[in-house]
Amino acid sequence: MSKSPVWHPFHQHGLGEDIPLVTRGDGAILHTADGRRVIDAISSWWVTTHGHNHPRIMAAVRDQTKKLDQVIFAGWTHEPAETLARDLVAIMPGGLDHVFYSDSGSTSVEVALKMALGYWHNRGEPRHRILVLEHSYHGDTIGAMSIGERGVFNRAYAPLLFDVGTVPFPAADPQPTLDALESACAAGDVAAFIVEPLLLGAGGMLTYPPRVLAEVRAICAAHDVLFIADEVMTGFGRTGTLLACDQAGVTPDILCLAKGLTGGSMPLAVTMATAPIFDAHYSTDRSKLFYHSSSYTANPVACAAGVANMAIWREEPVMERIGTLAQRLGAVLDRAAQKTQVIRPRQCGTMIAFDIDTGDDAGYLANIGPSLRAHFFANDVLLRPLGNTIYAMPPYCIGQDDIDRVSDVMMSAIDLNAR
Ligand code: PMP
Repeated sequence: MSKSPVWHPFHQHGLGEDIPLVTRGDGAILHTADGRRVIDAISSWWVTTHGHNHPRIMAAVRDQTKKLDQVIFAGWTHEPAETLARDLVAIMPGGLDHVFYSDSGSTSVEVALKMALGYWHNRGEPRHRILVLEHSYHGDTIGAMSIGERGVFNRAYAPLLFDVGTVPFPAADPQPTLDALESACAAGDVAAFIVEPLLLGAGGMLTYPPRVLAEVRAICAAHDVLFIADEVMTGFGRTGTLLACDQAGVTPDILCLAKGLTGGSMPLAVTMATAPIFDAHYSTDRSKLFYHSSSYTANPVACAAGVANMAIWREEPVMERIGTLAQRLGAVLDRAAQKTQVIRPRQCGTMIAFDIDTGDDAGYLANIGPSLRAHFFANDVLLRPLGNTIYAMPPYCIGQDDIDRVSDVMMSAIDLNAR
């Protein structure tokens, strides 16, 4: 008996709509097998900061594949990993001198959590509690889900998840957040506080100001609680500065980076840590080690893409592009904010978002999400609303014409949902 030839990838969030077959990417544009030209207004899940198939990154990938595809990284090293680590340490806030390679944002977060607990364990003062911010998202592995918002993403897996302390999201008055953090930290059992700085992504594109981040960081420092910044989404310019942390003038003890690390071209992540974290995991008699290794750690081709990304940051006017894009997106947001059904317009660098007032406060589960998505796709724009939240986060290279098109399609989507 032959099986049906229909093949369906498990992980695609398809929800029954037509599934485009993508054949080529070029800057902000995706081309499909049926000849469509689709504007990728979310950087393919917040990844492709420099756009698809950036020529310099692709050239570096091609060159590297001629030399070395993959090699064990346990006790061995190679040029792209060395160069990228050096480049990262040079550009990231001072003190984050130790670079641990992995291959996804979720893994970089898992590694950060392990480093935090290992730090306290190896110092002989075990602390196990992790604090998180309400509405956070840190990935889909078990540890990353445990520290994320409990809800639609992970309800089914609740028995596998560990307990954390949750600090309320900082609203207009951040005092309750700061008070809750202060009292949780004072208990003395908190290993670390992990946070998406300035912009919470999958939890609804929620923003909070740099001064709150600075105060949060200060409270952690006062209680000797490790401060982990998950900049998997916000890193590499998304919020208008290289790191979101830069706007608050704070340096984390541990920093997670992925997505934009390779300009979004190859799967690679790093967890960067300060000397005390590293030292707690290192001793010449090998009694203290960091136990985490995986097959593709520091894959040479991905690292070569990272090196090319760093060169782009050094040599091209990336910050200027980001500034221009932020300004243009601001104009789109102003246009949306004129509409009566639009609430909570917000911007953080090159991300704009607003909610459509559905009257029922269904938020993430608002059922207009799929119909909005279908409307966008029918108009050749890739946007994926989070429930009733519409947001855009395009590659930095997107041109004004394509922004205008995204803007028009967004406005027509809002009009379709007039109450
Ligand atoms: N942290 C944050 C803040 C993220 O936005 C994401 C991905 N959207 C992750 C972690 C997980 O990254 P990945 O999907 O590469 O595992």
